[in-house]
Amino acid sequence: MKVKTRFAPSPTGYLHVGGARTALYSWLYAKHMQGDFVLRIEDTDLERSTQPAIDAILQGMEWLGLGWDEGPFYQTKRFDRYNQLIDQLIAEDKAYRCYCSKERLEALREQQMAAGEKPRYDGHCRDNDCSEHSADAPHVIRFRNPQQGSVIFDDHVRGHIEIANSELDDLIIRRTDGAPTYNFCVVVDDWDMEITHVVRGEDHINNTPRQINIYKALGAPVPEFAHVSMILGDDGAKLSKRHGAVSVMQYRDDGFLPEALLNYLVRLGWSSGDQEIFSIPEMIEKFSLDAINKSASAFNSDKLLWLNNHYMRTMDPAYVADALKWHFEDQKIDPSQGPALENIIGLYAERCNTLKELAAQSRYLYEEYEAFDATAAKKHLRPVARQPLELIRSKLSEVACWETANIHQVIQDTASELELGMGKVGMPLRVAVTGAGQSPSIDAVIELLGREKALSRIDRALQFITEREASA
Ligand code: GLU
Repeated sequence: MKVKTRFAPSPTGYLHVGGARTALYSWLYAKHMQGDFVLRIEDTDLERSTQPAIDAILQGMEWLGLGWDEGPFYQTKRFDRYNQLIDQLIAEDKAYRCYCSKERLEALREQQMAAGEKPRYDGHCRDNDCSEHSADAPHVIRFRNPQQGSVIFDDHVRGHIEIANSELDDLIIRRTDGAPTYNFCVVVDDWDMEITHVVRGEDHINNTPRQINIYKALGAPVPEFAHVSMILGDDGAKLSKRHGAVSVMQYRDDGFLPEALLNYLVRLGWSSGDQEIFSIPEMIEKFSLDAINKSASAFNSDKLLWLNNHYMRTMDPAYVADALKWHFEDQKIDPSQGPALENIIGLYAERCNTLKELAAQSRYLYEEYEAFDATAAKKHLRPVARQPLELIRSKLSEVACWETANIHQVIQDTASELELGMGKVGMPLRVAVTGAGQSPSIDAVIELLGREKALSRIDRALQFITEREASA
């Protein structure tokens, strides 16, 4: 049978990293098994579901490259189907009308709590004759959960699970307002969509025995399950906004490549030997549900940064440049005013962990820096720097072939002609060209910047020295 998995988010907020990891695992398993991956939007909670949240989820999935073979399906479009099956269960006496008032249920609950019992429906309308109520009196529909035996399943992550039916009460499957409830819709969808493996967060594990009973009542095959553990922040608490970015798109905004986030997420709770770096084809090849870790995983931002740096340095520069372009726009840097983006990546990715930093650190290649960094200028643009800067300027204006090696030669020649150490020449030059005391290798920066701009920035530094001398 063809493997089919799904990701079924409720659109009540953005796609967060926990959801993204569940989606990734589900997607990887489908790809690994040459199966299909379905996207389903569980929007039955009309009050909490919003269109912006749906858009954010789709955008997050697309940015991550987790494409779907079917969907997105929307539960709100399938109410007729759910209701048809609920009516069928009523006709088969596998579900029943419950007329219990709110007050009765509330009193029951209080009684049970006072007696130290777990609150549960007592089955009042299950076997009693409720014919005194007219059919249209307010009521809910409850699923007639078996009372004997137990529900047994082997979870791919959590292992063998057995729950006695006596632990489970009769679940409401249709509310008074006629709306089918979540647990019922999930089962019908997974059945209709022929889902073979349900990969989801462990917060759903308590629903699974109830859902299995519903599958059985419907005569539907029960899928396999893998309940993935939680993600914790680096302080051990459940991952939340407090720990920094949790929305997937925030990672894009912060300068991460989707490949880095996916690599990070795949390892957060799954492993294959001690391998850390996985390309997407490799993840697909090696992924298995049974190797998912049972214990909760702690988010480690430093590792994510390390992976991002790795991908910035090793992926095709043209691809990285494309992602970098977004950050240029975001930081209002015009990429047409300097070297092609793919040509700067090799040099700058060595020193940056994010694309956001890379854009910020290379800004001076595209526009004039505003002012010299005060400390760097104070230290390096002193009167003694005039002579080396002037000599370099004149040599640079004569370099025949504008490339790093020749520019390097100019710096070296200047230092030896003036009998100065390389630092005494290189540092003033760096501050002149970039405005600051730190940059990648200055000869390579100057090549990228181009002759005209390099010369004019040296002039600017010389002017600065002149002004400094005048005011001294
Ligand atoms: N809609 C549920 C959620 O977002 C997921 C349900 C499921 O995967 O079965 O938590």
